[in-house]
Amino acid sequence: MDKCRGSSGILIIGAGLSGIVAATRLLQNNFKNVQILEAEDRIGGRIHTIPFADNVIDVGAQWCHGMQRNCVYEMVKDQDILHPTGDYYSTMKMVRSNKELVPHEVGSTMHDIVAGSMPSGPHPVVGSSGTHLAENFWRRIEAELPHVDRTLAREALDSFAKHESSIVGADNLFEVSVREHIEYHDCDGDKLLHWGTKGFQRFIRLLMNVGEDQPEDLGLLAGHVHLGKKVTRIELARPRKVILRCEDGDYFEADHVICTVSLGVLQEQHEKMFIPPLPPAKVNAIRSLNLGTVNKLFLEFEQQPLPDDWVGFYCFWLEQDLKELRKTEYSWLEGITGCHKTTCQPRLLMAWVGGSHGRHMETLSDEKVLEGLQWLFRKFLTFEVPAPKRFLRSKWFTNPNFRGSYSLRTTKADEHDTGPWDLETPVTGPDGHLGLLFAGEASSRNYFSTVHGAVEAGFREADRLIGLYSSCGPNS
Ligand SMILES: Cc1cc2nc3c(=O)[nH]c(=O)nc-3n(C[C@H](O)[C@H](O)[C@H](O)COP(=O)(O)OP(=O)(O)OC[C@H]3O[C@@H](n4cnc5c(N)ncnc54)[C@H](O)[C@@H]3O)c2cc1C
Repeated sequence: MDKCRGSSGILIIGAGLSGIVAATRLLQNNFKNVQILEAEDRIGGRIHTIPFADNVIDVGAQWCHGMQRNCVYEMVKDQDILHPTGDYYSTMKMVRSNKELVPHEVGSTMHDIVAGSMPSGPHPVVGSSGTHLAENFWRRIEAELPHVDRTLAREALDSFAKHESSIVGADNLFEVSVREHIEYHDCDGDKLLHWGTKGFQRFIRLLMNVGEDQPEDLGLLAGHVHLGKKVTRIELARPRKVILRCEDGDYFEADHVICTVSLGVLQEQHEKMFIPPLPPAKVNAIRSLNLGTVNKLFLEFEQQPLPDDWVGFYCFWLEQDLKELRKTEYSWLEGITGCHKTTCQPRLLMAWVGGSHGRHMETLSDEKVLEGLQWLFRKFLTFEVPAPKRFLRSKWFTNPNFRGSYSLRTTKADEHDTGPWDLETPVTGPDGHLGLLFAGEASSRNYFSTVHGAVEAGFREADRLIGLYSSCGPNS
């Protein structure tokens, strides 16, 4: 029989960063009855730090992107725990599928041209990033590098576009709105600050006030987190109450619910999950924005297989090789943006695979993925890469609690005149009660897709409730 496991107060769905910061902020403001319901058997969501090789790896978020106006950086800047990654990606080798190394000077000039061809400034404000990039790139090649081999230039453009797609989380840049760069606010300063040998979970521990020697402790959140509680129904029907039903039959009552599940979960579940159905503007945003897939592949070796003076390499596919690849079972390798060493892990190689190829990779066995990677190494490199000692990869799309990696602004969202602001808008019950609030990275107007966006959104919704009760005190 169903059991009511709690009443009144505030329930937060999801113990990712948005849910964790919302809960800690509310508890620190004297809200006592705050509970988080989390479907997974761990906290952190798309931050997932696990032991691997010489210390830890981040299967999800890895870097703090920037310093100025970055709330994550602001919270830790006095503690000397964030470290610069350095000039990583711009020093990677560019290798063609016939094993030819692109001369550094030619490669970096083309890289600068292609990077400078991305939309910037307030114009243009219509169309896709892909169209804009291609037009600008060829115009600049004609003007600045008239004698460069056009075949090589095409390979450089494709490689950069793939890299950029994985940064914004898109299948390709033709689905990305040129407005992305206007609405997404870059935080100035180092974009690749990492957490040393502790990984991103160090930040979660700081938020919960947990020491280094208490790995299992939930600190401030002890007694406030229910793991393995998958919410299947959210009902706003009863006056001034919200009822949550879970997959295991438990149900909870609350005065307010903050929903932080990913855009992918909303896309898949919203029609069954919310009673009454969500307002049209929110459904429009859920259907028009996108949650892209970006996956990571980690290979641990006895010894680092790349030469000392290599950070990693980008794959430049010759047109004919690409045509042949697409006919084979290794076609998903087209989605590999590059392969490189990583900080604090001397024996590791890491590769990224995104978009539809990243989703396909998730359906393959570990053996098949490794076989493909070995094939790729043999295709591009003049030296041998031995079989790895250990292998691990993410599967963010397959996991029903995520259904992807991070959100992006699409051209479809432009056409449908919607964006994160429609995800952010709270939903009131029939009596006007502020019952259902939404956080999560995809609801952040200017920092969507990032951890600082998720944090900002969690604070935003906690502050909305703190503001609501500021005159009369919490109803809990
Ligand atoms: C591979 C990868 C690399 C990334 N790299 C970076 C990076 O370097 N820097 C950066 O800033 N950002 C990065 N990001 C993005 C960043 O991780 C996310 O934007 C952020 O962590 C999202 O936090 P969130 O709280 O909004 O959502 P989530 O972390 O997804 O939290 C939502 C929680 O809700 C739970 N949930 C879902 N459905 C239910 C349900 N029905 N009932 C109960 N609980 C449910 C989920 O299990 C999850 O724990 C990366 C993401 C990925 C996947």
